[in-house]
Amino acid sequence: MYYNARLQLLLKKINPSRISVMQKDGEIYKSWEEKGYFKPELHTNGNPYSIILPPPNANAPLHFGHAMYTVEDILIRYHRLLGDKTLWLPGADHAGFETQFVFEKKLLEKGKSRFDYDRETLYKMIWDFAAENRPVMENQLKRLGFSLDWSRSKFTLEEDIIKIVYKTFKKLYEDGLVYRAEKLVNYCTYDGTSFSDLEVIYEEKNSPLYYIKYGPLTLATTRPETKFGDTAVAVNPRDKRYKQYIGKEIEIETVFGKAKLKVIADDMVDPEFGTGVVKITPAHDFNDFEAGQRHNLPSVQVIGLDGKMNEKAGKLKGLYVKQARKAIVEEMQKKGLVEKIDESYINRIGVCYKCKNPIEPLPLEQWFIKMEPLAKYAIKAVKEGKLKIYPKNFEKLYFQFLENIRDWNISRQIVWGIRIPAWQNKKTREWKVTEGENPGDDYIQDNDTFDTWFSSGQWPYASLAATNSLEFYPTSVMETGYDILRWWVARMMMLGIYMTGKPPFKDILLHGLVNDPLGKKMSKSKGNVIDPIEIVEQYGADTVRFALVYGNATGNDQALSYTKLEAAKKFINKLRNIARFVVEMKPKTSSKEAAQRIEDIKVMKNLEKVTKDVTDALERYDFNFALNMLYEFIWHYFADVYIEQSKKRREEAQPYLEHILKTMLILLHPFMPFITEELYLQLPNHLESIMLEKWPKVKA
Ligand SMILES: [Zn+2]
Repeated sequence: MYYNARLQLLLKKINPSRISVMQKDGEIYKSWEEKGYFKPELHTNGNPYSIILPPPNANAPLHFGHAMYTVEDILIRYHRLLGDKTLWLPGADHAGFETQFVFEKKLLEKGKSRFDYDRETLYKMIWDFAAENRPVMENQLKRLGFSLDWSRSKFTLEEDIIKIVYKTFKKLYEDGLVYRAEKLVNYCTYDGTSFSDLEVIYEEKNSPLYYIKYGPLTLATTRPETKFGDTAVAVNPRDKRYKQYIGKEIEIETVFGKAKLKVIADDMVDPEFGTGVVKITPAHDFNDFEAGQRHNLPSVQVIGLDGKMNEKAGKLKGLYVKQARKAIVEEMQKKGLVEKIDESYINRIGVCYKCKNPIEPLPLEQWFIKMEPLAKYAIKAVKEGKLKIYPKNFEKLYFQFLENIRDWNISRQIVWGIRIPAWQNKKTREWKVTEGENPGDDYIQDNDTFDTWFSSGQWPYASLAATNSLEFYPTSVMETGYDILRWWVARMMMLGIYMTGKPPFKDILLHGLVNDPLGKKMSKSKGNVIDPIEIVEQYGADTVRFALVYGNATGNDQALSYTKLEAAKKFINKLRNIARFVVEMKPKTSSKEAAQRIEDIKVMKNLEKVTKDVTDALERYDFNFALNMLYEFIWHYFADVYIEQSKKRREEAQPYLEHILKTMLILLHPFMPFITEELYLQLPNHLESIMLEKWPKVKA
């Protein structure tokens, strides 16, 4: 409670008055867009420089993490000023399961569910829902000043994108890298779909450990309800206590009467856990599934996709897992089969990342991608220095993921997404993979859709190809949150190299999370989510951009700081005051001779140094350093020292004052686009926009 009270106090600072910097910013943005400044054609003869915006979810408003794309706009505006042929390509992601989950919640509010509609109707409803919300997200990106080429904006469910995704799938299939198999998959019985390994989150949960008598042995398990699916018990081969049983069958008492079960020896058994004996249920546990394959054990499924016990569970049939657990324990207790229950046991349990219900490992036939051959090239590219990851410490996470990668289940049992172009022959049951076309009347299409990351994993190539912009492939840098390095960046690397032979970008740049003002991760359940647009409305986009970059090392998490927002506001005021002095309070006459005094020589030297420092810092993605240099120079040198000195010799100093102010505005423009444009247009001899200016030359 103390925490929330403190947070509320900080949040009160926002809201009351909404100053209308927004309107002015909006007009500036509109004129830039109308004049075509965001298009690469602005500098047709420049070197290509490009970034693909990580496409936000089409149906959801932006969160503070998206505001960090400021970093991309800094790079884009910097390169545009350098005269590069610069493209920042926007897009929107259909975000498959995420979006369907949100939509189903809306249905629930109306007393409906996904089961009330056929596939086509449900798809159409979600399509309309996403289409309605997409402009909200796009307008928010505009409010932040992001200079995206909207004429090239793409959505992941557009037909040309789907075509490319189908092509990739077919190629993978023909190369033997896609296969269909029945395996244990992560399944959410509440949402009715399987997931990849990455979408399962693990939570430490108290789950009682039951010590159950299995004939002469006693074993410990957290899942007594799956005992109907046991096909062996296992011990560690070096465990002397159970040596005599290995390879033999034991007779056990069950709720159905007596039964026989084989005792196997396997290294996976930890002799320290429980009694050192475990039950093996290949159909309902990932480790047991593998043990089952090693020992040729049958697999008996006792839980269905609906999360209920099936007929193999006898009279427990129809009960949900939780109910069944309670019932079977009571039954066994009556028979004296429960030796003890350790109520204090804490277990790591996989839960659905959306609904938080336990993930049930269930056997299911799905499409899988063989990842190892793809991962090999993605590892090689970074190891060989073909591209770099910034900050470098994230390389470890990248390699760790790719070196331990398992085959990727890409089938989802949802309608919102790209339907898998695989067709099954009704008679022969054989599968055919196409580029979308129906191979004949005897075939029916797979009901499943692709994991949304399968299509977004092809995004750089797909979005550029679909907009006739392949000259920008590979892109210059992929900038995104480090939290999706595995989900997204690693997959783009693998699929990009696979489809084109080249990594999809030259650099990978990762930013950290933006936490609440007290440093805690923003989350809906904690109620501490702060809307970036609310802050933009209150403080202005430039201020928010400044606060996100200033004092924050690239790649680090940061707390949203009101101190920094206030500092940014003061800095903008300072800039206004400087411009007022230089432009409005200009002397009526200015000296004809370029008198150069010692202070002028010094200021020009310092200007040269700050220009070089800022340029170097941008080249190595050290945005904080660059902004800090500008801030210090402008406030503590240009204003405090040079301007003060110039007051006594105004006419002489005027050309220097104008030159320095103009240079500062250009250098600051990538960070604070609106205020720099506004003040630039007050300068004498200005161009139509600061966006048409040139980045000052740096002497080597
Ligand atoms: Zn779920």
